[in-house]
Amino acid sequence: MTLTNLSPQQWHAIPADEAARMLDSKLALGLTAAEAQQRHDRFGANQLVGKPGKSAWVRFLLQFNQPLLYILLAAGVVTAFLQEWIDSGVIFGVTIINAIIGFIQESRAESAIAALAKSVTTETTLIRDGRTQRVPADRLVPGDLVELAAGDKIPADLRLVAVSNLTVDESGLTGESVPIQKDTQPLETGVALAERTCMAYMGSLVSSGQGQGLVVAIANATETGRISQLMEQSTDVETPITRKLGKFSKKLLYIVLGLAVLNFLVALRQNESWVEVFTTTVAFAVAAIPEGLPAIVTITLAIGVSRLAKRNAIVRKLAAVETLGSTTVICSDKTGTLTENQMTVQAIFAGDRLYRVTGVGYNPDGEILAADLATTPALYECLTAGLLCNDSHLQPQSDGQYTIVGDPTEAALIVVAHKAGLNREDSAAQMPRLDVIPFESQFQYMATLHQTDPNEKSIYVKGSTEAILQRCDRMLDEHKESIEIDRVQIERQADEMAQQGLRVLAFATKSVTSLPQPLSHRDLDRGLVFLGLQGMLDPPRTAAIAAVRDCQAAGIKVKMITGDHVLTATAIARMMQLSSGQEIESYSGRDLSQMSDSEFANAAASGNVFARVAPEQKLRLVEALQAKGEIVAMTGDGVNDAPALKQADLGIAMGITGTEVAKEAAAMILTDDNFASIAAAVEEGRTVYQNLLRAIAFALPVNGGEGLTILAGVLMGTALPILPLQILWINMVSATALTIPLAFEPKSIAVMKLPPRNPNEPLLTARLLRRIVIISLFNVIAVFGSFEWAQQTIGNIALSRTMAVNTLISAEAFYLLSITQFVPSIFAKLRDRRRPIAYIPAIGIAAILVLQWLFVEWSVMNQLFQTVPLSFDRAAISVAVSLPVVIVVKLLDRFDPIE
Ligand code: ADP
Ligand code: MG
Repeated sequence: MTLTNLSPQQWHAIPADEAARMLDSKLALGLTAAEAQQRHDRFGANQLVGKPGKSAWVRFLLQFNQPLLYILLAAGVVTAFLQEWIDSGVIFGVTIINAIIGFIQESRAESAIAALAKSVTTETTLIRDGRTQRVPADRLVPGDLVELAAGDKIPADLRLVAVSNLTVDESGLTGESVPIQKDTQPLETGVALAERTCMAYMGSLVSSGQGQGLVVAIANATETGRISQLMEQSTDVETPITRKLGKFSKKLLYIVLGLAVLNFLVALRQNESWVEVFTTTVAFAVAAIPEGLPAIVTITLAIGVSRLAKRNAIVRKLAAVETLGSTTVICSDKTGTLTENQMTVQAIFAGDRLYRVTGVGYNPDGEILAADLATTPALYECLTAGLLCNDSHLQPQSDGQYTIVGDPTEAALIVVAHKAGLNREDSAAQMPRLDVIPFESQFQYMATLHQTDPNEKSIYVKGSTEAILQRCDRMLDEHKESIEIDRVQIERQADEMAQQGLRVLAFATKSVTSLPQPLSHRDLDRGLVFLGLQGMLDPPRTAAIAAVRDCQAAGIKVKMITGDHVLTATAIARMMQLSSGQEIESYSGRDLSQMSDSEFANAAASGNVFARVAPEQKLRLVEALQAKGEIVAMTGDGVNDAPALKQADLGIAMGITGTEVAKEAAAMILTDDNFASIAAAVEEGRTVYQNLLRAIAFALPVNGGEGLTILAGVLMGTALPILPLQILWINMVSATALTIPLAFEPKSIAVMKLPPRNPNEPLLTARLLRRIVIISLFNVIAVFGSFEWAQQTIGNIALSRTMAVNTLISAEAFYLLSITQFVPSIFAKLRDRRRPIAYIPAIGIAAILVLQWLFVEWSVMNQLFQTVPLSFDRAAISVAVSLPVVIVVKLLDRFDPIE
């Protein structure tokens, strides 16, 4: 084979058939399966091997680049300076452990997201052995004959061999934002990449039209593969909440520094030694810093991502997890998302007669009532048009059922023709197809050109009633005679079908004696003969109906956006109760286009159904809703949906029917295209946010309690109830064993009963702040109580401190038990054996028991942390003092809940 000898620059200079010969491929047939396998073994997978991002070391060191850790590092240096080696060692140890935890979590979050993004495999359409098939894009080999359609991502470098209105967006490669018109003509050797109109390069996006190309380079041999900058894989793990947390950390830094100075001055005035002054100041700083918080946030978000994946929502941008929690409007496609995308033709109008069709699904069991093809030639013509103007086919399964390949709308047309005894193969053999204009939402029709006779060609067209009728001037009557068209009658029939929720397709034909190929939209402008209408039912998904109700209960409006007819869409919306019982408010794209901006804004806000909308109108709808303060989730699948998906707060692409372009623009991908998965994702998103708030409300009072304890100790001139090292111990064990379980909390039943969260609210709302302060105060009182009691009755400072630490840790354990679902889930289990126990907090508490036991009883720990073993009574007292925290939390939940 010659292809390896050829430098990649030259393919554009070679004629298409010559290129095929050099690649040892066939223009119409493609490679053979065996040859493709051989080349795959030889050239490997068509996968870009990316340069690694920042090195692990750099990412690890970046963990220290947090304002709060600066203080800790400074504290470590100061203590080293004072030759307090143990203190200094532990402080550095803690900072490093912290950085390790942060590093591991961040890497895991990043790779989880990257892996998920990869799990959405891209498929490509190609021809092998003369048959069109879908294969994963990484299986492409040089010489493969690839088919391109609007919305595709170019899977490898291609020499184009056939095009029809093909335009390609190459902005990723060349920076040129206007899509390039492609052709197949060879060019001069020296032409620049951006001007090689007969080539299509990996990663570019097909904006419109269709084409075929031969693979000339795969994987890292492609132009994209050679531009290494493009390939650095980076996943953004920054989200609004991590940004808010960053800002909060900075504020906290100043507060801590300010108070540390105060601490320092007070201690100095009390004539203590320098060492002691520094020790208390360091103790305070260490106490007040929630060094574990950033890691908790990342863990919680990462867990959210994997939970979403389990519920069929793949997150492409981490921020989406949060946006889900504050979504106020979901604009959803109808076909396939709210409905099953399981089409069955139920009514046909042809030759001035209406026929009913029985049967459900894709099995051709059923009949067209009162129809006899021999005596109803108009019906025959209408069904034949449905068969010819069709790119899909049925596939019999081993169990006697049928599945479809292609578009369900088209499959339904095949099934109904079967019911009348017609089949696609025969029709296609009698009237071979010469050319096609594929269906595109924006034109609302599809057309094919057939050789109907040795010297006659016919165009068959199918599409929306509006699109077809305006092009017809005649129609067929009962006896297949061409008569003057009766538009009023046809429109009435179409409306009647649509009112029953049927999706209506109109059919027409036109015979032509001479026609310059290729077929173009202009050939269809007028002169068509109307053949009939077919109305198909696409029932709402049962799960989607329930999900719509859930969303409404959760304060989220659901709006239907569709290319379908307004009457069809309204009928379906009514079945789904999209307006919660009220009359459905519907607008068509034409209504919208005639509105002033303010009318449009109002319609966007109050409408339930937007039908026959153009992609630009989707974008305008998003913008209008956003201007009203809504947080908009918008679904999309087509190539023209990308702008709306990008503009929406949460762009959602369809995993099955979606184009690559839509997926690229989206923040989230639904693997099952089902509206119910959006509702599930909202639920998970809200849970994540709730868990984040809980984790913050949990972690900060620990630092608050410790900081205030030190401050109070200094101000009152008493000995420190807790030493700096002991504080680090508390922070460490509480951040890991007690706070992490909060990230795993299951969703609470109430999460979908609350209104959406305001995304502009600060991280620490007044309520959250109140809670943090109140629990911090409780902690101070409990710790001091325990400490003072021991001082008064026993008078051993090490023992008093040990008790104080015990009290604080057990206060946290009780706090954890009172906010997690562990205890309630046990009661729920007693009532209903099938309910799971939310046991993860119990693991944390068990771990804390062991750790704390070591801390108090083990001699090594006694030396390191200056603790002493406790008798059972004393340990019990230190724990009992903390118990009232449960009452405090319950009172707060009752009178001042945080969510
Ligand atoms: P949606 O996906 O929102 O239902 P589409 O844009 O796919 O809307 O379809 C809009 C209209 O175009 C449909 O109501 C139908 O009349 C017509 N249509 C849909 N699919 C096809 C097709 N494969 N061929 C011809 N016309 C179609
Ligand atoms: Mg569609």
